Amino acid sequence: MEVTLLGITQDGGLPQVGCLKDCCKEARLSPELSKMPVSLGIQGADGSSHMIEASRMMAGQFDLWNSIGIREWPPSSVSLTHAHLGHTDGLGLFGREVMGSSGVILHCSPSMGNLLNSTPSWSAMIDQGVIIPKLWSSMEPFEPTTSCGFTITAVPVPHRSELSDNHALIIRGKKKSLLFMPDQDSWSETLEEGLGILDWLRGMSVDIALIDGTFWNYDEISSRDVSKIPHPTVVETLEILGNRRSGDPEISFIHFNHTNPLLNDESDECRDLLKMGWGISKQGEVYHL
Ligand SMILES: [Zn+2]
Ligand SMILES: [Zn+2]
Ligand SMILES: [Zn+2]
Repeated sequence: MEVTLLGITQDGGLPQVGCLKDCCKEARLSPELSKMPVSLGIQGADGSSHMIEASRMMAGQFDLWNSIGIREWPPSSVSLTHAHLGHTDGLGLFGREVMGSSGVILHCSPSMGNLLNSTPSWSAMIDQGVIIPKLWSSMEPFEPTTSCGFTITAVPVPHRSELSDNHALIIRGKKKSLLFMPDQDSWSETLEEGLGILDWLRGMSVDIALIDGTFWNYDEISSRDVSKIPHPTVVETLEILGNRRSGDPEISFIHFNHTNPLLNDESDECRDLLKMGWGISKQGEVYHL
């Protein structure tokens, strides 16, 4: 089975609406430099399609996925990590105004399920049979559809929970497993006391980890905003990780804010990170699990 990374940015995308600074200038002039919010496209062993997250840029994500061969559309299932904007603002595209889909299975947590039921535009889609919510239990692997050939395990990860709770998802195929963790508030809240990042990943038998790299450091945003949108910075994560040693899981950063220098291949930050042996995820990257 195959997993395609259909977007690499934080919820706002690149360019971000209203940003006239250098970080977004070039992407606005050259559309090939623009990037979409994080999402995964998974091709099951039986040819079924599955998405993680439902972004408003799903049209472009479909094109990207289709260019490398998608066999089923709309997907059989969608799984949502949490309710924040860029992770859910494309759900409506499955409805009558756009694709007119029916029976798309929507895997999510009970807290996200409550929000679906209490949000009029989403509950209407449930009533119309467009989406069928299925609630997972944390840490219990489930098959998104029978005979898709892989499982998903939802790992609770603390992250501003104004609307819903938040989970990282482990996608486990026959050969390898991949952790998708776009958002978290801090490593100290995510990890049990005394547990290191690598121990945590090894404990869950994760081979490849795509983790929150929203900000390189907090110089990118005003100090006023830091407490409102907490994320461990990439600098902080690299300090904890140190250099990669043989046998360590592959760790690669995703969910970049438009201000993050890791979006620019030529930056010193990219060079330094790669030198340490860790990765910077690219839109369109494919993982075979
Ligand atoms: Zn996000
Ligand atoms: Zn910008
Ligand atoms: Zn979020």
